[in-house]
Amino acid sequence: MHRLGGTGRAPILAGFRWRSDATSADGRCPLDQLFTAENLHWRDKARDIADRIVRPLAAKYDREQEYPWEIRDALAEAGLFGVWIPKEFGGHGGGVMDLCLVVEELSRACGGVGVLFAVNALGSFPILLAGTDEQKAAYLPSIANGEKLIAFGLSERPAGSDASGLLTNAVEDGDHWVLNGSKKWTTNGGAADIYSIFAVTDPASKSRRISAIIVEKGDPGFEIGRKEDKMGIRCVPVVELHFDNCRVPKNRLLGGRAGLGFKHAMMTLDRARPGVAAQAMGLAAGALELATVYATQRKQFGAPISSFQMIQQLLADMASNVEAGRQLVYAAARACDAGAPELTKMAAMSKLFATDMAMRVTTDAVQVFGGYGFMKDYPIEKFMRDAKITQIYEGTNQVQRLVIARNLIKEAGRLDHLAAFIPLPDHPNTLEDLARAERASADA
Ligand SMILES: Cc1cc2nc3c(=O)[nH]c(=O)nc-3n(C[C@H](O)[C@H](O)[C@H](O)COP(=O)(O)OP(=O)(O)OC[C@H]3O[C@@H](n4cnc5c(N)ncnc54)[C@H](O)[C@@H]3O)c2cc1C
Repeated sequence: MHRLGGTGRAPILAGFRWRSDATSADGRCPLDQLFTAENLHWRDKARDIADRIVRPLAAKYDREQEYPWEIRDALAEAGLFGVWIPKEFGGHGGGVMDLCLVVEELSRACGGVGVLFAVNALGSFPILLAGTDEQKAAYLPSIANGEKLIAFGLSERPAGSDASGLLTNAVEDGDHWVLNGSKKWTTNGGAADIYSIFAVTDPASKSRRISAIIVEKGDPGFEIGRKEDKMGIRCVPVVELHFDNCRVPKNRLLGGRAGLGFKHAMMTLDRARPGVAAQAMGLAAGALELATVYATQRKQFGAPISSFQMIQQLLADMASNVEAGRQLVYAAARACDAGAPELTKMAAMSKLFATDMAMRVTTDAVQVFGGYGFMKDYPIEKFMRDAKITQIYEGTNQVQRLVIARNLIKEAGRLDHLAAFIPLPDHPNTLEDLARAERASADA
């Protein structure tokens, strides 16, 4: 199996047999048997930390809008920052699937912690996918053991959905690159030690205008700017970055070759979007669990509200949508790990479906709580606030639809054989005409 910058393994379902005696540990995922032992190991570690450490602290860090270093420490101690990093660079040799399982579990307890973790994959994927061996050896081990955090700086004030329009530039000067400009909305900024920064290195070029450059905390001329006050995911900082004649050594150019930055950014987003989808799906799953428990406890008209069919309909639709989202996230993650040719479309579909689904499910979960759901004393409104951003970052869902449609239209060439069965308005023949012509030629 293709792994991110790592070595191959056999497809996980080869020789699969269902064990009739096995049940999932807590009944929350009836399809546990479809995972490898490694998948379950990392998922269960994440679930333990989510239940024991993240959930009790979620409201505090949401209120204070501070980075939860104690949660980072617990994740690092459990080895979770290494799940997507190859063993030769200090990780555990997993891939996007393990990443998604961990993000799902953390997001079930707190969507902010889900992205606080996942953003390190977003930041490190450029190095994993395109870095030189020296760059991988220099940066990945300290990310894998959680000692150093990393961020991804692509977006700028004028360049959001149109990321290729970014303006931050880098110019060669002797043994250095000199960066000037600003980045907007860099998640993990300030907390992170390492930054994958995208900058214009060849303004005259159309296709090779942008390069990725690794910037470190403390590089001269690099400053953390304004920290945003956000609707959700409040425990993780989102900041501006400023580069004022920021000098970094030449060997920080990603992959040692200029002009490939936009390609590297798109390759990264293809593999990171299932992580956003997992964050959204985990949020939806967590909201569904809370709503289900609440519905069995809250009584009106002398009965638990879970006995009312309209509440049952809400819960049933929520559960079916969560499961559909979960399977699409896992399919997209497996497509990434297998290096499937359609991973761009799969990743975009998982992000689109799971994040739109999470917005609906978390909103319905608030509805199940009634007026109490609207209050900050209850944990459910935070799920709805945290879910909103998943429809926006790493490409808005409008952009995901563009990506999916573009790929579908490209693939239409493979379906040329169907054209003969479709009478078009300007087509000379209807299907009936074609059948008549075939009969006539057979008779002749
Ligand atoms: C909390 C947060 C964290 C973030 N973290 C990071 C990060 O770590 N690193 C990073 O690089 N970026 C990050 N971003 C940036 C994020 O990826 C962008 O916000 C996103 O890509 C959208 O860009 P924009 O906000 O400029 O919106 P715009 O591009 O201005 O879009 C505005 C609206 O127009 C729509 N639209 C735009 N173009 C089209 C089109 N062609 N067709 C149809 N509709 C269109 C959009 O869907 C949206 O609804 C973050 C953003 C936020 C809010």
